[in-house]
Amino acid sequence: MPPRIALYPGSFDPPTNGHLSIIQRGLKMFDGLIVAVLKNPAKDELFSVEERVQLLRGALNLDKRVQVKTFSGLLVKFAQQEGVNTVLRGLRAVSDFEYEFQMANMNRKLDKEIETLFMMTGEDYFYISSRFVRDVARLGGDVSGLVPQNVLEALKKRFK
Ligand code: ADP
Repeated sequence: MPPRIALYPGSFDPPTNGHLSIIQRGLKMFDGLIVAVLKNPAKDELFSVEERVQLLRGALNLDKRVQVKTFSGLLVKFAQQEGVNTVLRGLRAVSDFEYEFQMANMNRKLDKEIETLFMMTGEDYFYISSRFVRDVARLGGDVSGLVPQNVLEALKKRFK
């Protein structure tokens, strides 16, 4: 049987313990994951795409089952390029649902082979979002426990 690989896309600006938890749990279901960092020209970008890739790689401790790549444009095109047809996403709250539901259906409309799989966030992580981590760190709040150690250090450097 060929290895079962899923794509885990997102902005990861910055990577959080919520993301890492989804990756660890995803690895129980798949042989490997491709973490796909979106190259979006977001207005309030904190770390560059290259920095996010490095932060993810650092946090993942060179786990060979996880590749970190970047993509731009349509996710389904990137999935096709990579020969992967399962997309993994995390669901935190009801508020995530509508957007995720629309996106999953849009992606399936674009490519009917693409399936999106959702994992419910663990109770320790449901309140963690990259945006809140960015905002709290920017204001000098303590985000230890919410992000991996290397991200914590990068945030301290950025906002010192
Ligand atoms: P996006 O910018 O597309 O929302 P993110 O980088 O915020 O991407 O997140 C990527 C994926 O990780 C999304 O599926 C998101 O729901 C999920 N995710 C983010 N934070 C958490 C968390 N704390 N627990 C579980 N899943 C999360």
